[in-house]
Amino acid sequence: MQEELFIGGRWRPASDGARITVLDPATAETLTTVANGTVEDGLAAVDAAAAALPGWAATAPRARADILLRAFTLMHERADELATLIVRENGKALPDARAELNYAAEFFRWYAEEAVRVAGTVQTAPGGANRILVLRQPIGVSVLVTPWNFPAAMATRKIGPALAAGCTVVLKPASETPLTALAIAEILAEAGAPAGTVNVVPSTRSGPMVSAMLNDPRVRKLSFTGSTEVGRTLLATAAESVVSTSMELGGNAPFLVFDDADLDAALDGAMIAKMRNGGQACTAANRFFVQRGVAEEFGRRLAERMSALRTGPGIDPTVELGPLVNAAAVAKVSELVDETVAAGARVLTGGKRPDGPGFHYPATVLADVPADADILGEEIFGPVAPIVIFDGEADAVRHANNSEHGLVSYVYTGDLARGLRLAEALESGMVGLNRGLVSEPAAPFGGVKQSGLGREGGHEGLLEYTESKYVAVTW
Ligand code: NAD
Repeated sequence: MQEELFIGGRWRPASDGARITVLDPATAETLTTVANGTVEDGLAAVDAAAAALPGWAATAPRARADILLRAFTLMHERADELATLIVRENGKALPDARAELNYAAEFFRWYAEEAVRVAGTVQTAPGGANRILVLRQPIGVSVLVTPWNFPAAMATRKIGPALAAGCTVVLKPASETPLTALAIAEILAEAGAPAGTVNVVPSTRSGPMVSAMLNDPRVRKLSFTGSTEVGRTLLATAAESVVSTSMELGGNAPFLVFDDADLDAALDGAMIAKMRNGGQACTAANRFFVQRGVAEEFGRRLAERMSALRTGPGIDPTVELGPLVNAAAVAKVSELVDETVAAGARVLTGGKRPDGPGFHYPATVLADVPADADILGEEIFGPVAPIVIFDGEADAVRHANNSEHGLVSYVYTGDLARGLRLAEALESGMVGLNRGLVSEPAAPFGGVKQSGLGREGGHEGLLEYTESKYVAVTW
């Protein structure tokens, strides 16, 4: 297990010797410690990335692709080991960790395939005097900042396209989950990524460190995944040096169920959309809006499915719902539930923190939630499904769009015309139409409103790491 900083192809301690304590969320006990990067370490990583940039940008796309493909293979060869590491530091249940691992590795395969398909364009200027040649060039040294909820996938979703485009990177993973990011750096090095192309600097001093990196003129890109609140701060910092930004921020996904929906499918979809990662996903269904005619049955059956989940430490292979990431997460979720119950909601299942060690919270379904309840206004980030009843389609759209966020919306209806109409009307970057899972490396993932700027995945995800250069040519 790697526990030091990875800079310029070497493992090294923090310049001041500081360590980050990594906890096991299932027990609240210390798992290990990891080097805690300083501002100087962050800048040393920028030095390494800047030194490696010209060579990497000039490396043949096919050679870059081969390295990504080897990293994809190595991730699968070490799937058990990596999934266990994710469970240990993040807490999620083993099946969730395995699913994340597959998803994460897939970004390396997809961007290996995309690395050889970066096309420019040529056109004749409308006046006919010259040609317009547009090249796509790597944007340069990229700073990547990732959250704890998908410690592998959020890293590969950024590293894959950056390397494919010919950029070098400095990754600052979340302090709760640095071990997975370090393991991925090790895999990339083994796969042949030259020293300095990928640097990983865990740090609890993220504000000053990232700010110093963004103010270094060699850094040309920031790709951030995390909360809207931190995203706003980083946008302001990036503005000082006019650094290009991609922002994958918070969500508050509505999950709409119409009375013509296939309820079995809607329940399957709800279980994935709500419970993947124990509800700790930016795409998590956060607000259930169910049409009056099916609301009682949907709530009852969802509560049955939720209460049947086996909960406990994620490392037990029979467990389906692991702990939340830390004590603060449990405190926040239980406070939101208590407030909603005080506001008149009915608890169909869950709602009480268990005794014992670790950061556990049970799967919870709340019915009769008032449409103005606070719980609908923020990310719950836990296994709690609040259900609000709606009457007509316009009512549903109004509720769904009543949010500053716009990452993903889910719609279940048997009427495809209505589904497509809603897909256009819903203010979100992604829509799951009769589907509870939208994450897909080949598709453009991202949000509108305060859920972010730019897209990750798909061909768009690679273009975020390129600049267009226009050459006016007379020939
Ligand atoms: P967070 O915003 O607290 O932290 C994200 C990262 O930013 C971490 O690495 C953290 O150390 C770092 N950070 C914190 N303060 C910083 C600062 N001042 N300067 C620089 N870096 C700083 O988010 P989190 O709690 O780790 O993750 C949960 C959030 O991430 C949720 O809001 C979730 O919706 C969001 N998320 C979004 C997506 C998406 O694709 N849209 C995916 C996963 C998670």
